[in-house]
Amino acid sequence: MSKTAVYPGSFDPITNGHIDIINRGLRIFDKIIIAVGYNPTKEALFTVDERVEMIREIVVDNKRLEVESYEGLLVDYLINVNANVILRGLRAMSDFEYEFQLALMNRRLDRKIETVFLMTGSKWFYCNSRIIKEAASFGGSVRGMVPDDILHKLKERFPKLRENCGRKRRRSP
Ligand code: ADP
Repeated sequence: MSKTAVYPGSFDPITNGHIDIINRGLRIFDKIIIAVGYNPTKEALFTVDERVEMIREIVVDNKRLEVESYEGLLVDYLINVNANVILRGLRAMSDFEYEFQLALMNRRLDRKIETVFLMTGSKWFYCNSRIIKEAASFGGSVRGMVPDDILHKLKERFPKLRENCGRKRRRSP
């Protein structure tokens, strides 16, 4: 029996931290549905449709990945797509409390649904869409933190965005 997980999130925009969770999730699940949620509490840079389109362009070659948007209760969406596993990533303590509450709430809403957490890769510990947007809006390079296609989209929104990290080489004393 093939096992499907739903990886829900804002993905505004998708980062290399998200991609790491997806790639590792594919070692556990046969199929992952990346589900871009409408979140009225978060001010978004890209519309949900733009985010779905951007992620589709990145994962197009992988037949085990699907990208969709959803609105409303996540557990209802899972029932619609015939899945019972939610995949989430965990970074720091700050993620933990929210993720813990969310997982318990979803389980309360539907006992058959389980949330599986993957710990962030150490490289992506600080990789977060909000910080990336903040840095990019002030022109700071975010190369290496997002896929190149996303870098181009960010550059369209933030023309001042630098292409490379502006770290200067240290001169010898
Ligand atoms: P949300 O709107 O729920 O915060 P996000 O788009 O920020 O959704 O993230 C979706 C999921 O991916 C969440 O479980 C989040 O913790 C996880 N995630 C985001 N960035 C990383 C990262 N760098 N490493 C591991 N997990 C991450």
